Amino acid sequence: MTAQILDGRAQSAAILDRVEREVAEFVAAHGRVPVLATVLVGDDPASRTYVRMKANRCAKVGMQSRRLELDASISTETLIEAIRELSADPEVDGILLQHPVPDQIDERAAFEAIAPSKDVDGVTRTSFAMMAFDEGGFRSATPGGIMALIDAYDIPLAGKHAVVVGRSPILGKPVGMLLLARNATVTYCHSRTADLAGHVARADVVVAAVGRPALIKGDWIKPGAVVVDAGYADNQGDVDYEPAAERASYITPVPGGVGPMTIAVLIDQTMQAARARESARAGDLTPAGTPKR
Ligand code: NAP
Repeated sequence: MTAQILDGRAQSAAILDRVEREVAEFVAAHGRVPVLATVLVGDDPASRTYVRMKANRCAKVGMQSRRLELDASISTETLIEAIRELSADPEVDGILLQHPVPDQIDERAAFEAIAPSKDVDGVTRTSFAMMAFDEGGFRSATPGGIMALIDAYDIPLAGKHAVVVGRSPILGKPVGMLLLARNATVTYCHSRTADLAGHVARADVVVAAVGRPALIKGDWIKPGAVVVDAGYADNQGDVDYEPAAERASYITPVPGGVGPMTIAVLIDQTMQAARARESARAGDLTPAGTPKR
């Protein structure tokens, strides 16, 4: 078997086309353009590229992006202050703090300075809890993108065994919970897992979210499994692609799979945030101030 490609470029383009139409409607209705604020701390070239790509996608759909660039040596307090200002700024609809931040910064504290109503990258505890309780709100962007990609190909999840490799709070953990909400049976693997190969070999759906090139070997993949590779270390995925593609039914390429979907979800959720803020202004506030799905 040679796997069918889960084409994140094509599917993200479809999402962005829809958002572009929604932005035009929004501008016509409200006389303003949705605004995404991006915050980059330090000079990491990869992070700089990701922020630039996100700003480019904003421009493509007719949104505005506002870029805040801060010195690599700033303190947690300074970063929190800057994010709080964006949270309070009436012109800003969504806030993205590019991950990872330099070591001296308490990243969790910085994420929590993002107002939940502007947490379009889905990184706050509030967004996580709303996702876990299946109460709408903003999804962590990469997990949201993975689910949108799986759904675009009508891949059934109920009753399937999904193995998620990685358990970070913005990727592995939430994607497992979203799979669980779709009635998959979910196993989490991580750095202390014994017999990773054995777990992966029993999976109908594998989500790799580690950051170690080719950690997942092709001959671990159960024939016919769906393979989603979120990894992006040294420009490579976590899955040894060629041999895995020989066994899988569907597989994401790296690049061109999960990455573009992540950005599309961020832009889509910025649109939702702008709409929710206008509804709130008009007095139609949903319980947590964030959009219902
Ligand atoms: P992270 O916070 O470093 O988490 C990595 C996870 O992998 C941890 O849970 C860790 O386990 C686990 N792990 C490490 N070594 C392992 C091993 N040998 N076997 C099994 N599990 C192992 O990373 P992250 O932020 O979740 O990102 C993961 C990858 O996704 C990175 O390559 C990143 O670049 C990529 N990423 C891509 C996108 C995108 O848009 N495509 C977005 C975000 C991240 P412990 O918990 O036990 O330490």
